[in-house]
Amino acid sequence: MRKFFISIFLFFIFLMPASSQDYNNFFQNKAFRIDFQLCGDEKTTTAWLHQLSEEPFWGGRRAQLSTDLNLGQNRIQVFDSLSNQLIYTDGFSTLYFEWQTTPEAKLMKKCFEQTVQIPFPKKAVKINIDKRKGFDSWETLLSFNVTPEDKLIRRNQLPKVPVREILKPASPDKAVDIVVIAEGYTAAEQEKFFEDAARLADHLFTHEPFIKYRNRINVYAVAAVSLQSGISMPHKDNWLNTAVRSHYYTFYSPRYLTSPATFSIRDYAALVPYDAIYVLANTPEYGGGGIYNFYAFASAGSKRAQAEVVVHEFGHSFAGLGDEYFYDSDVLDGMYNLTEEPWEPNITSLVNFDTKWKNMLPKGTSIPTPVTDKNKTGGIGVFEGGGYLTKGMYRPSYDCRMRTNDAKAFCPVCEKAVEKVILHLTEK
Ligand SMILES: [Zn+2]
Repeated sequence: MRKFFISIFLFFIFLMPASSQDYNNFFQNKAFRIDFQLCGDEKTTTAWLHQLSEEPFWGGRRAQLSTDLNLGQNRIQVFDSLSNQLIYTDGFSTLYFEWQTTPEAKLMKKCFEQTVQIPFPKKAVKINIDKRKGFDSWETLLSFNVTPEDKLIRRNQLPKVPVREILKPASPDKAVDIVVIAEGYTAAEQEKFFEDAARLADHLFTHEPFIKYRNRINVYAVAAVSLQSGISMPHKDNWLNTAVRSHYYTFYSPRYLTSPATFSIRDYAALVPYDAIYVLANTPEYGGGGIYNFYAFASAGSKRAQAEVVVHEFGHSFAGLGDEYFYDSDVLDGMYNLTEEPWEPNITSLVNFDTKWKNMLPKGTSIPTPVTDKNKTGGIGVFEGGGYLTKGMYRPSYDCRMRTNDAKAFCPVCEKAVEKVILHLTEK
């Protein structure tokens, strides 16, 4: 009988999702950072642990710790070593994965810096870093044990630069915390950076659902100092010495702005509690980039569609939205395998459409949905073209912030997906 009770008890332990009480059982009020390298080529990926660090602030969620939204090309899972209970999980994507879809990855092997921040464990944990194999299948790339007392966990080595709260309507444990990091601003340009960071926040609040949840969104500005002003433009033979070594011409694509210096970006981010990183580039050049739960980049001085780009890139980095546009021979057109359902909430290959916006479709919607004058201006359907592909991939609306700069807003499916992430991060 006793044995029976024990097994019932264990059964419930394993079924129980980690709740907010579990935060205090398993985690301290600070963050744990895992730096690793993702290496390989077009077909192979290996992961190698680089460094573990303690960081002063945990800005992430304190509830729903063991549930995820099935977003991202990768995930982290943290298990309590004693009980093997899953106590934290999160999804993320990588610049490395995008590189794997470029022609260069057919020719050589490369490594990319990757970082994941989790709450700092109280007790010994096992950490798995997994790679997505399909819509709901994973393989483990890296698995290791951590004891929080380990003397070699790096501490107290953060950069010293000015930090300002731009907006702080809520406490970090109940808010989406966005850290805006200066890139390409010299010491003399710090005030300009703080003004630009405030404008970036204003741009976000031109779109739903950010307007609706304004009282749950904190924005901080970290004035990283660059030795030179501006952003590197390799295709114009112009390299500059900047704080996080970003540049245009990522994967030889002129408007694609990213940085390979992930560890450096995370050093600056660690100065505040954060859920999302936005690197603000001091340049008038049009362009940007955004990768889910990794970072977003936007240019501060572009006159062309600035609010639109700021929100579009944040759609990628914050909510894992896919691009809804498609051109013939896009640089990233090798990204999706049409025999699988993509994980991005706003595109579908129709392989597993039930998991997407099927329940939001008006009755009798034909698939694919033909473009008419009426649905060009709004409404939900299943329009062919999206995810860089003209054929075989579908999007929810004719136009959307994730498709063109002319769109007025996110389509209803994207808006709902962004809202879902806000709620996941802020609801108890
Ligand atoms: Zn959309």
